[in-house]
Amino acid sequence: MDPRFTENNELCQNIKNWKVMKAIDAMKALGKSVPVDANGNDRCISYQVKGYCFSNCRNKRDHKPIPPGTGADQFYDWCREAYTCEEVAGGNIDS
Ligand SMILES: [Zn+2]
Repeated sequence: MDPRFTENNELCQNIKNWKVMKAIDAMKALGKSVPVDANGNDRCISYQVKGYCFSNCRNKRDHKPIPPGTGADQFYDWCREAYTCEEVAGGNIDS
């Protein structure tokens, strides 16, 4: 799991305390959908930010770490905006 989701900050506090749907709904309200993988499939937010999920999850194909350079930074930016309602600048970083 991305170590940026285990830090001691507002983002990680909210990840711990919120239901995943709250973050997804916050982004929906901004007209932004759930991040997708390279094949266009929804990422599993729960697995990616909490490190666990359920075996009957409809996005369980995403129950594996995001390899660097394949959208991990975009996913992190999405989470930062979703979980803190903070507009994220830029967005084309994935180096
Ligand atoms: Zn899942």
